[in-house]
Amino acid sequence: MVTKTLGIIGGGQLGMMLAEAAKSMPEHISNIIVLDPTKNCPASRVGAKQIIADFKDKNAIVELSLQSDIITYEIESGDSKVLESLHDEVSINPSPTTLKIIQDKYLQKQFLRQNNIPVAEFDIIESLEDLEKKIIDYQYPALLKARRDAYDGRGNFKIENQSQIETAYRQFSGRQTMIEKFVDFKMEVSVIAARNIHGEIATYPLAENIHKNNILEITIAPARVDSKISSEADRIAKKTMDVFHGAGVFGIEMFVTKDDKVLINEIAPRVHNSGHHTLQSSDTSQFEQHLRAILGLPLGSTKLKHTTVMCNILGPKDFVGRYKPITLEQKDGVYLKMYHKDEAKPQRKLGHFNVVDEQNTSDVDTLLEKTLEIKNSIKFIQD
Ligand code: ATP
Ligand code: MG
Repeated sequence: MVTKTLGIIGGGQLGMMLAEAAKSMPEHISNIIVLDPTKNCPASRVGAKQIIADFKDKNAIVELSLQSDIITYEIESGDSKVLESLHDEVSINPSPTTLKIIQDKYLQKQFLRQNNIPVAEFDIIESLEDLEKKIIDYQYPALLKARRDAYDGRGNFKIENQSQIETAYRQFSGRQTMIEKFVDFKMEVSVIAARNIHGEIATYPLAENIHKNNILEITIAPARVDSKISSEADRIAKKTMDVFHGAGVFGIEMFVTKDDKVLINEIAPRVHNSGHHTLQSSDTSQFEQHLRAILGLPLGSTKLKHTTVMCNILGPKDFVGRYKPITLEQKDGVYLKMYHKDEAKPQRKLGHFNVVDEQNTSDVDTLLEKTLEIKNSIKFIQD
């Protein structure tokens, strides 16, 4: 059997968990190389070779392609034009064309709307005057969003009233922006979906996401919604997979509105934080699924075996620097995964843990209580 060298753009925690999954498939993948600007990035700590360079560094991307048989990414900010130019020489998935659409929120939403996939109302913003004019129809609050390179809500400004328009516009000076209607949602949910290079599609059951300060804090799988909503979300996710090209796992973030409509918030063409529960809740983790998809293997089972709550471990406020190892008693369905980041910063994603109902005897409230207890027991101590 021919084994392959896997190249990943980005070597953060997602790249790390992809590398771990790749190591468990030695009959298919023999080497892993990541491109990441941070020395000793998480993926390199679990055995991936690292090219240290910016995600958009053309020469580094070419170098990665020369050393790899297949290329994928764990972040959206790679240079899609460079990737497109390499597409004939190395297999890149999801396709650079898909990446190009998705990495620009405006193009992404436009593409979804053209394909009759429900999204909140939005429009391009060309100038301050344009924003002042358009916001009248959107009313308050409305969101001004940077079109590119946003994460953890840092590219969003919620405009509450007229006096904030200029501040919002200036905050993204030099960047292209769009306006979006504020969705007064009942719940945020997501579908982790996969398509392999032969076109086979599989979706995991709907998960519920709870954000705090714009950052995902908790995922509950399955989401606490009735079956009408979960089937609608699944239908939308499958339709989304039909319209985007390329193989791989996609994280599809959605809103459930107060009148039970499902709208797409945004799509990530990669494994997703809200899919970390699959490491224990399912026979096939999202990381293995992604590799199966891009290698052209049959997709694995997406069945949820156990109700699971995932909780992110974020750097506490007022704490910067090295910290003593975080440990948890890993028994009774508790699983800890730290990301080998030596230094903490406020709100930095440093690890996560899953609380799994392995006996299938608990209810979600009990699992959530246990999750909060564990979360509160985690202490960061200077090292
Ligand atoms: P991520 O947080 O996934 O890295 P991001 O920074 O690109 O992504 P979004 O997903 O656009 O940001 O928004 C972050 C959060 O802000 C959402 O999860 C949601 O809670 C809130 N949000 C975004 N858009 C809207 C909207 N139109 N109406 C209401 N809330 C919104
Ligand atoms: Mg988001």
